[in-house]
Amino acid sequence: MTDSKILDPKIPSGPLAEKWDRHEKDNPLVSPGKNRREKTIIIVGTGLAGGGAAATLGELGYKVLNFCIQDTPRRAHSVAAQGGINASKNYQNDGDSVYRLFYDTIKGGDYRSREANTYRLAQLSMGIIDQCVAMGVPFAREYGGTLANRSFGGVQVSRTFYARGQTGQQLLLGVYSALSRQIAAGTVKMFPRHEMLDLVIVDGRARGIIARELLTGEIKRFEADAVVLATGGYSPVFYLSTNAVNSNATAIWRAHRRGAYFANPCFTQIHPTAIPQLGDYQSKLTLMSESLRNDGRVWVPKKPGDKRPPNQIPEDERDYYLERRYPAFGNLVPRDIAARAALVECDAGKSAYLSDRAVYLDFAEAIGRLGKDVVADRYGNLFAMYEEIIGDNPYETPMTIYPAPHYTMGGLWVDYNLQSTIEGLFVAGEANFSDHGANRLGASALMQGLADGYFIVPRVISNYLAGAKLPAVDTDHDAFKAAEDDTRKYIQRLLSIKGSRTVRDIHWELGRTMWKNVGMSRNAEGLREAIADVSRLREEFWQNLKLTGDDADLNKQLEQANRLSDYLELGELMARDALMREESCGGHFREEHKTPEGEARRDDTNFTFVSAWEYAGEGKEPFLHKEELNFEFVELKTRSYK
Ligand SMILES: Cc1cc2nc3c(=O)[nH]c(=O)nc-3n(C[C@H](O)[C@H](O)[C@H](O)COP(=O)(O)OP(=O)(O)OC[C@H]3O[C@@H](n4cnc5c(N)ncnc54)[C@H](O)[C@@H]3O)c2cc1C
Repeated sequence: MTDSKILDPKIPSGPLAEKWDRHEKDNPLVSPGKNRREKTIIIVGTGLAGGGAAATLGELGYKVLNFCIQDTPRRAHSVAAQGGINASKNYQNDGDSVYRLFYDTIKGGDYRSREANTYRLAQLSMGIIDQCVAMGVPFAREYGGTLANRSFGGVQVSRTFYARGQTGQQLLLGVYSALSRQIAAGTVKMFPRHEMLDLVIVDGRARGIIARELLTGEIKRFEADAVVLATGGYSPVFYLSTNAVNSNATAIWRAHRRGAYFANPCFTQIHPTAIPQLGDYQSKLTLMSESLRNDGRVWVPKKPGDKRPPNQIPEDERDYYLERRYPAFGNLVPRDIAARAALVECDAGKSAYLSDRAVYLDFAEAIGRLGKDVVADRYGNLFAMYEEIIGDNPYETPMTIYPAPHYTMGGLWVDYNLQSTIEGLFVAGEANFSDHGANRLGASALMQGLADGYFIVPRVISNYLAGAKLPAVDTDHDAFKAAEDDTRKYIQRLLSIKGSRTVRDIHWELGRTMWKNVGMSRNAEGLREAIADVSRLREEFWQNLKLTGDDADLNKQLEQANRLSDYLELGELMARDALMREESCGGHFREEHKTPEGEARRDDTNFTFVSAWEYAGEGKEPFLHKEELNFEFVELKTRSYK
């Protein structure tokens, strides 16, 4: 169903480069001291976005309640990020600038993101690096001491700052040390092992959450003046993904059920270089960072069905298909292009020896050119991880890799102030529909997470709190009682099913349906099939789920069932969104919309908008709202990396 409600992105007026500064200048602030101490802010999530925001708001003097599902904030999934973080510092003197980073990001996202947000991201990128260096984040350095950079896909400059293959871990340790300082100072109260299960709305504004303490099962109410969700992405809807098994969509989906619109749910990123699936009992897929494509060469055997070990295939019988098809960018084409190219080769029967669904990533040339020590210095931990999992030594035998679900560009709709369609509910990091359009360029998520966390959320929350009239509300309010009752009933409903299929079994089936029909390549027939299959599976879930244990204890199955119940709704919405979008753009490839060369064909006349879906009730068809995207500063062009 389509509705005509206009979504106002609240983009400040003025020239692109001045919008954020003007916004900062024009908006009111809360004065330090008592006024800030009296304001409570709930932040759900302790990754780069949530942890960064909590530490900064704590330092500003607000009272912050910070939640995560892990044992400690430093286990947020940001810790897993490998390759690096972008910033337009132009240290390499290779022609980088704020405008170029902005332009690359808009173009990389296939012109499906907001100009103003993306420009702000590029502007803030430099401050992020300064902040992190000041905090002691050990970025890689050149011999002379200056910060080193490498390249990521889709760009022709080197702007990616990194700490070996552990950039996320080092950035998160920076966030964690700032957070620890605030916890010790008493401004941030940390709630590990607490899972948000509902949002509480009073008089139309977000005023609190309901959370379950995971060790005891206790259901608790928390009140605040504003709520920030920074709960990460939803790739595990595919079951197998590069995300941690615990990553989930529950916080954003429960907020969606309460009225927050969900934007561009079908925009998901399939990363081209993960270790392929090799069995049916895997719980996740392991990423091999995009940085490897700086030096690794991607190829398949020229002959379909050639299953000789890679080192026995002579040079002239190999097809370096990315270099052949995209000479201008070669192995460093953007992720959506590289992933689809691997699909095309494997569909043609050309694949690596370990699996029919795998291609090679080869370092022989780089080792010959740079020496083994340099390659080990750049990628040593990734090579070790690969050898541990596959048993081949990548210094001697090319890696086998295949695309895997990795990142979700979709998420809760937010305006320029990162505020959702519910007043007082802000969304940051991967959980919002983001600045990446239909495809995220590598090393841009960490940049967005920290831009949101360190710089944007603290500012826009201050503006909101200074401007909003917020009557005192406590957790005895009826809205809290009702939300807690709903949560308890939902949990009892799950526990009372007493069927015969495990959570894993149903999740696996959901994942395979999503991967087959809403994965790298989509068509109308497959998407209709997915909508029907997911809907049927949801019914099966509510009639035939088998859970053991109870709700008064640590119960991993119950946690997973809660999250799966949300994926069973979100999966259907993703398929609906993909079906509605009759074009190919970025990570959304519709087989009906391609050029004669097989490349994605956008429809800028009819689809230059953000889709924002309104929840209509369990099993009911959602309403579609649209935010038109206006491009004043860039010209929309067909993306070409040839
Ligand atoms: C393997 C891997 C490698 C990557 N490498 C890179 C890279 O090199 N460069 C790059 O730019 N990006 C990379 N990314 C993407 C990037 O890491 C993420 O997009 C980013 O870190 C997300 O940060 P976040 O703060 O939004 O969420 P997260 O770090 O995922 O944090 C989510 C937080 O929310 C909490 N949470 C979730 N649900 C609930 C709930 N219901 N109740 C309470 N708490 C909840 C979690 O406990 C956690 O604290 C990578 C991603 C993966 C999977």
